[in-house]
Amino acid sequence: MEAGIVGLPNVGKSTLFNALTAAGIASENYPFCTIEPNVGAVAVPDARLARIEKHIPTQKIVPAVLKLVDIAGIVRGASEGEGLGNQFLSHIRAVDAILHVVRCFEESDVIHVEGSVDPIRDVETIDTELMLADLQSVESMTERATRTARTGDKDAKLRLEVLAECQKLLAEGKPARGLVYEEANLAKAFKELQLLTAKQVLYVANVDEEDLLGTGKHVMALRERATAEGGAVVPVCARLEAELSELDSAERAEMLESLGLSEPALASLARAAYQLLGLQSFFTAGEKEIRAWTIPAGATAPQAAGVIHTDFERGFIRCETYSVDDLDQYGSEKAIRDAGKMRIEGKGYIMRDSDVCHFLFNV
Ligand code: GDP
Repeated sequence: MEAGIVGLPNVGKSTLFNALTAAGIASENYPFCTIEPNVGAVAVPDARLARIEKHIPTQKIVPAVLKLVDIAGIVRGASEGEGLGNQFLSHIRAVDAILHVVRCFEESDVIHVEGSVDPIRDVETIDTELMLADLQSVESMTERATRTARTGDKDAKLRLEVLAECQKLLAEGKPARGLVYEEANLAKAFKELQLLTAKQVLYVANVDEEDLLGTGKHVMALRERATAEGGAVVPVCARLEAELSELDSAERAEMLESLGLSEPALASLARAAYQLLGLQSFFTAGEKEIRAWTIPAGATAPQAAGVIHTDFERGFIRCETYSVDDLDQYGSEKAIRDAGKMRIEGKGYIMRDSDVCHFLFNV
């Protein structure tokens, strides 16, 4: 699961990306972090990890992470080849959700590409480029599907139906995420189009040091727009987060306190993005390690085991499960077992948020 950072030039994308990646996750736990320079990861802070550790002392705590991709190159006219042109398309297509960074800080020293700070105009500029790019792909996919449909291909006919609806919406200047398909085949056809504006968006309002809670007029305007779309805004001061990420934990705590904050804004950003992606966590816990693992809501027990290791999914037999609340209540795994609260779950089990699991499998 990964999120792509987009936004106009000079809005603070790189500052934010660097702060996120510098905030530091132990990369030996996450092999994918060592690859490309524009790919990073941020830990998703989770108070449940410490709750588990209270009852199960351990050597190491490993939080869930969100993978991030810094996507450069969207300017007005990008879909027509301005700036870096169309390169950004394939990068956005590959991510699961979008973090749209919007400049809400004034700062006359930092030039705004459009000459003034206006978050709504900026959001519309980016949206327009993405919608234009989608319209182009809808057109070419329609041509192809029309040809295939002539041979009597059922999937192509479904595809054409969905494409026509996308075309209509996009031509009205609305993003494709406004379309919701209940019927499974239509939903699948829609998903396969991989439209850029079908992805969920979280707006990151890059605020002034003076407006950390995001109550200023720029952020309020952005909030109003996001609410109308069913989306959310997280205020972040990228420059401040960059400074925080360079401090050790004692200095960081001191600085946060002096600012009247309980945690870096990156923490709420990571959580909001996690929620936006429809993700949840389950845990494994033992003396060596307590670890949060990421799964989509609705995943089955074998799928959850497969996140740990693909062999675990294939060889899944059953899992023993309890919740973090059970652990708080009974105080140890043994006490949970003695109270008859340790659940044995099979292949069809749908994972619940906060499950702590021991998997049994054949290798
Ligand atoms: P990008 O082009 O979107 O990647 O933007 P950068 O991250 O390079 O930032 C552009 C300029 O804005 C840099 O000079 C940053 O120092 C500055 N900047 C970024 N975030 C903030 C912020 O939160 N507050 C202020 N005042 N300046 C910022």
